[in-house]
Amino acid sequence: MAYEVCEAADEVGELNARLRDATPQEILRVAIERHGGKIALVSSFGSESAVLLHMAAQIDPDIAVIFLDTGMLFGQTLDYRKQLAQRLGLTGVRDERPQFQDLAVHDPNADLWKSDTDACCHIRKVLPLDRALKGFDGWITGRKRFQGGDRIRLQVVERGEGKLKFNPLANWTKADIDAYVAEHDLPAHPLVAFGYPSIGCWPCTRPVEEGQDERSGRWAGSEKTECGIHTPRASSIVEVGGDI
Ligand code: SF4
Repeated sequence: MAYEVCEAADEVGELNARLRDATPQEILRVAIERHGGKIALVSSFGSESAVLLHMAAQIDPDIAVIFLDTGMLFGQTLDYRKQLAQRLGLTGVRDERPQFQDLAVHDPNADLWKSDTDACCHIRKVLPLDRALKGFDGWITGRKRFQGGDRIRLQVVERGEGKLKFNPLANWTKADIDAYVAEHDLPAHPLVAFGYPSIGCWPCTRPVEEGQDERSGRWAGSEKTECGIHTPRASSIVEVGGDI
């Protein structure tokens, strides 16, 4: 077991050394070619998602894209997910939803977010992602270091949920993102124009003032900064049963 842990750490270290200064497209290509059809891109179809999705579509339009439809998303996000996938020619987008039994037992009135956001995120995001990632050897995220919080230490390659996890945009700045969007004329999420630089579920997302941290509108007024899919699993809530 110790040998396997060392071997896994070596693999992450070797990939980081190799890709530390690579472009996002080079990182994506390495990730996709290394894992073939066994890698999934996890996307929120949020304010900056079009960049990574566009890059991935240029390499493999059939790549599996996991979209966590929590049941609490803005209608604009659901529309954007459909329109953007079609525009980019992405054929592998999967809408992953919370399990009916988990909602029935732990959140029957759809108001768990009012009392326990960690538990709500666990049922609506973490467990669905864990189920969706079964069968994949690696995953790709759109996180950037400039987003702040725990993300300022983000590495290009890490290990998450026992799988290699690639963050092709880790090194990019907001200016890089904006320039790419302009160069490729990518459509913006409709809520960006209304002051939402980071977009999650409607109960937990607020618009922010000009100059504020872009993720400051997420779980505003609480200590929470991440939904839990990128942090070690902590909730004591377990799945109730299989999908129906
Ligand atoms: S972001 Fe809010 S509504 Fe969405 S899953 Fe987390 S706590 Fe629930």
